[in-house]
Amino acid sequence: MKVVIIGGGAAGISTASNIRRYDEDMEITVITMENQIAYSPCAIPYVLSGDVESFEDIVMHQPEDYLEKDIKVITNAEVFKVINNEKKLKYRLNNRYISIEKEISYDYLVIATGATSFIPHIPGTTLEGVFKIRTIEDGLEIKKWAENSSKAVVVGAGLIGLETAFGLKKMGLEVTVTEMLPQLIPRSLDSDMSKIIQEYIEKEGIRIILGHPLEEIIGKKRVEKAIIGDEVIDTDMVIMATGIRPQIKLALMAGCEIGRWAILVNEKMQTSVPNIYAVGDCVEVFDAITSQNTQSPLGTTAVRQGKIAAKNIVGVKAEFKAVLNAMVSKIGALEFGAVGSSKASAMQNGIEVIAGKSRALTKARYYPGAKRIDVKIISTLKGKIIGCQIIAEERVAERIDTMSLAIAQGVTCYELAAMEFSYAPPLSMVIDPIILAAEDACEKLKKLAT
Ligand SMILES: Cc1cc2nc3c(=O)[nH]c(=O)nc-3n(C[C@H](O)[C@H](O)[C@H](O)COP(=O)(O)OP(=O)(O)OC[C@H]3O[C@@H](n4cnc5c(N)ncnc54)[C@H](O)[C@@H]3O)c2cc1C
Repeated sequence: MKVVIIGGGAAGISTASNIRRYDEDMEITVITMENQIAYSPCAIPYVLSGDVESFEDIVMHQPEDYLEKDIKVITNAEVFKVINNEKKLKYRLNNRYISIEKEISYDYLVIATGATSFIPHIPGTTLEGVFKIRTIEDGLEIKKWAENSSKAVVVGAGLIGLETAFGLKKMGLEVTVTEMLPQLIPRSLDSDMSKIIQEYIEKEGIRIILGHPLEEIIGKKRVEKAIIGDEVIDTDMVIMATGIRPQIKLALMAGCEIGRWAILVNEKMQTSVPNIYAVGDCVEVFDAITSQNTQSPLGTTAVRQGKIAAKNIVGVKAEFKAVLNAMVSKIGALEFGAVGSSKASAMQNGIEVIAGKSRALTKARYYPGAKRIDVKIISTLKGKIIGCQIIAEERVAERIDTMSLAIAQGVTCYELAAMEFSYAPPLSMVIDPIILAAEDACEKLKKLAT
């Protein structure tokens, strides 16, 4: 049997490696437009900041490495046609001088085409010095340009925008972040929590403009100014961190059903066309809280989906469950994360909730180096936990993961408040900040009931 995977990102490579893990005989080919595979886009901002030394360090494997696993990788090749009734596809092999058209047949096709950066239609986005941030090539170009620049505007205050802004700041640039919504990280955090992050980032010397879209980028050949609201800002570069759009063209061509945003798949990661699977940023997922389809553009989701698709292709039963979109990030010294629903998003979806909060410390009060930690737990009026947000200078990721487990298991804030957590002065408080937030939620529920 032959499987062809379109895409050499997290989802495509995870699918290929897992098929080989479960099946020694399957003929596996991965086709990608890029010249690199198996690198971590998530690390691009940290190369800019200098925390990771070079872009070479974020490439985990070379295409040749996969030959050892008997996986064929074709790089610099763009698939442009899928003819599924003949179970074959056509691709264009591009190098600097020529472009050759080729054909390959398959029994199973996996579409792992990811997403492209969304660039809003505003004047000036094609000027030199305007960048998107998606691939390692984008990272290299941004770094090279930034090395000869003194000012940057980052458009979009989601995770990627903020991480990139901090990277550029650490490179020595004067950085302005602009976000058209009234808060940072609007997809995952409530405004009260995002204000804590905003304070930190502003203290680090990054200017933040909220509630104004970028209107226009001005320059003759290269960027000179950005117009944001009434303000004209001098800048040498503009980074567009304005979201993504799933790449669904090939799926449409193959006759796969498309949902509200992306390719529709079942729990096996199978599209509406039975021999075609789809994984990663190009598919829609089921939201565990709202019970609606949503997007989950995360490396973790891509890798997990690749594993599920691989198992099903080789005949091992596996299901991809509803997502909670657990995320974490680190900007400078500050870590933050969220899982499940924010209060704002729950309310938008018609779910009545309360929020329990705590502000505490990451170690015993007297222990040197204890850091402030802020926790917010979102609970339904019946006490079921549906979301959590945490900000601190340490140990955020493991707490978010604990809460991911709690939410997935339907734990209530009463149960969480009674749970046993470990304690030692250098590592934690005797009552964990999560418990304190759960207790606060219980108090609020009690007040509501009286
Ligand atoms: C700067 C940045 C930081 C991030 N940080 C995090 C983080 O901290 N945590 C986290 O979980 N996630 C993070 N993400 C998101 C994560 O990187 C993505 O969700 C993940 O990479 C998606 O993987 P994918 O394989 O679906 O798509 P992609 O990585 O986009 O791969 C798509 C592949 O398809 C190929 N392709 C597309 N069309 C064709 C075609 N027609 N022919 C041939 N090949 C084609 C492309 O060349 C590429 O190889 C970050 C992303 C970025 C950009």
